[in-house]
Amino acid sequence: MQEKGSISIHTENIFPIIKKFLYSDNEIFLRELVSNAVDATQKIKRLASLGQYSGELGDLRVEVAFDADKKTITISDNGIGMTAEEIKKYINQIAFSGATEFMEKFKEAKDANEIIGRFGLGFYSAFMVADKVEIQTLSYQEGAEPAFWVCDGSTEFEIGDGILEERGTEITLFINDESAEFLSQYKLQEILDKYCKFLPVPIKFGTKTESVEDGVDEEGKPKYTSVEVDNIINTTNPIWTKSPSELKDEDYLDFYKQLYPFSEDPLFWIHLNVDYPFNLTGVLYFPKLKNDFEFQKNKIKLFSRQVFITDEVKDIVPEFLMLLHGVIDSPDIPLNVSRSFLQADSNVKRISSYITKKVADKLAELFKADRKAYEEKWTDIGLFVKYGMVSEDKFAEKAKDFVLVTNTEKENFTLNEYKDKVEANQTDKDNQLVYLYTNNPAKQDSFIQSATKKGYDVLVMDSPIDNHFISHLEQKLEKTSLKRVDADVADKLIRKDDAPETVLTEEQSTKVKDIFNKAINKPAYNVQIESLNPDELPVTITMDEFMRRMKDMAAMGGGMSFYGNMPDNYKVIVNGNHKLVNRILQEEDEAVQAQLSKQAFDLALLSQGLLTGADLTEFVKRSVSLI
Ligand code: ADP
Ligand code: MG
Repeated sequence: MQEKGSISIHTENIFPIIKKFLYSDNEIFLRELVSNAVDATQKIKRLASLGQYSGELGDLRVEVAFDADKKTITISDNGIGMTAEEIKKYINQIAFSGATEFMEKFKEAKDANEIIGRFGLGFYSAFMVADKVEIQTLSYQEGAEPAFWVCDGSTEFEIGDGILEERGTEITLFINDESAEFLSQYKLQEILDKYCKFLPVPIKFGTKTESVEDGVDEEGKPKYTSVEVDNIINTTNPIWTKSPSELKDEDYLDFYKQLYPFSEDPLFWIHLNVDYPFNLTGVLYFPKLKNDFEFQKNKIKLFSRQVFITDEVKDIVPEFLMLLHGVIDSPDIPLNVSRSFLQADSNVKRISSYITKKVADKLAELFKADRKAYEEKWTDIGLFVKYGMVSEDKFAEKAKDFVLVTNTEKENFTLNEYKDKVEANQTDKDNQLVYLYTNNPAKQDSFIQSATKKGYDVLVMDSPIDNHFISHLEQKLEKTSLKRVDADVADKLIRKDDAPETVLTEEQSTKVKDIFNKAINKPAYNVQIESLNPDELPVTITMDEFMRRMKDMAAMGGGMSFYGNMPDNYKVIVNGNHKLVNRILQEEDEAVQAQLSKQAFDLALLSQGLLTGADLTEFVKRSVSLI
């Protein structure tokens, strides 16, 4: 039999299109051809299990080989094979997926998904790297004749008698000059490792040397000899294909090491497993995050029926979940399509919300099962949970029950617990709950101490996400606001009706204000006399909470440049009830008055790290003279 014909497509030049536009990464030709070979072996297995094939199955396997001299790469399998008629149907008619018909036939098969054509034009991706492609094949069907097909990348092909004597298919690519890099052991091994590492059928690529025990030597110690064994590049049953009940913690940890050899152990993991309304399996790991979540080198890997597709999962998992590591495998995620299409795809949307829910459920479960262990991990997961809450409302809804806040005593509370704790003492005269926080416990120590003295609790909010988390809490919590502990003097942080009485007359107040204004002599500092508790510091310097936040946001590029450009403005709060103020008023020598007020002011600056340079030097000199 010898026949010539044209590949039935509508445009004459589909090959140049395939070469240029369809696949940006030409290395995936190997993924496509190996997947086809794997599919072919799966199909024969399926036919045997349905009783429609009664011959020997043999050891089902796929083999990849290359010949640098002949410039060929060969992919062979002992799968289902093809008759000449099937070649015409499945190979010649581009875009007609043979899997469609196969599907019709075996609709009732349980794992029908397994055989849906994977990537549409898969086979033709060979022409991205080859000038000529040959197929030698022998169908499993009784009495089938071996068939041969060759095509040089034009729309002309030749079909004829083949030479195979065993069931299966052998595809040979004659690699073109631009793609010579693929004719290397190292390069092919690398591509196979990337895409084929977890395929369900053993993939052989050459041989490797292994040392095996071979009897004992004179001293009774085991002897070793080297033998050549098949180099099988894949693990056929990766853990995500197994049921969680079969797996131990070590299995999950080993697999993590296999995926990311140089990483610290993860904190915990989630085994994903759904088959309705979409099909998805996978294992997601929670890494130790620390504070450098911008820098995440281990990405989630996306597979489709054990074939690696990509580690750009941006449109499939919500952004905050990209902090996780691990694998997701779903035949339902459309592949080789544009990003915008992915975003609009309803399966992708459902998958994304499913994963979000699973992650939230897992965290809730950990929290419930062992609060102590959960708290120990909080430094690592806290960042992730807060990030999730500010970016995903659905997640926030669930996470509000297990998100923790931590105070300066390092005690952790849920939001409800915290409310109960501070409600009595931290509700202001307008019935508004005020949560106090510090973003820098060392620097704001004097403020924290003053607040604690009043029985207030102070939360530590010092991670990069906390600015956003604070706004989030204010939006979500009823009648609650958050104030940084240095936003005001302790007496005024939470306005109550029980303000201490003023001891100064209005006239004295004005006089004190003048003395301080003169002594400080800086326009950015606005002096204000307040009647505070006598044991509060004589002078405190604060920046208004609102102004500070606006400036913080401007600094982070939040588009508040108006505030960013405003000069820093501070409030200098002089405690009119402090005995030092009284002493200044009594003092008759104006120079001493000025010196005392300057000293009190500098001390306030000092406690906040605002006293620097010449001012600091002057302060030290003055202090020495005062002793
Ligand atoms: P898809 O895999 O999506 O069906 P391909 O272009 O990759 O599309 O392959 C087209 C068809 O060619 C396959 O569906 C299958 O019927 C047939 N085919 C390709 N490679 C093999 C093979 N190694 N063994 C048997 N049939 C094959
Ligand atoms: Mg294919």
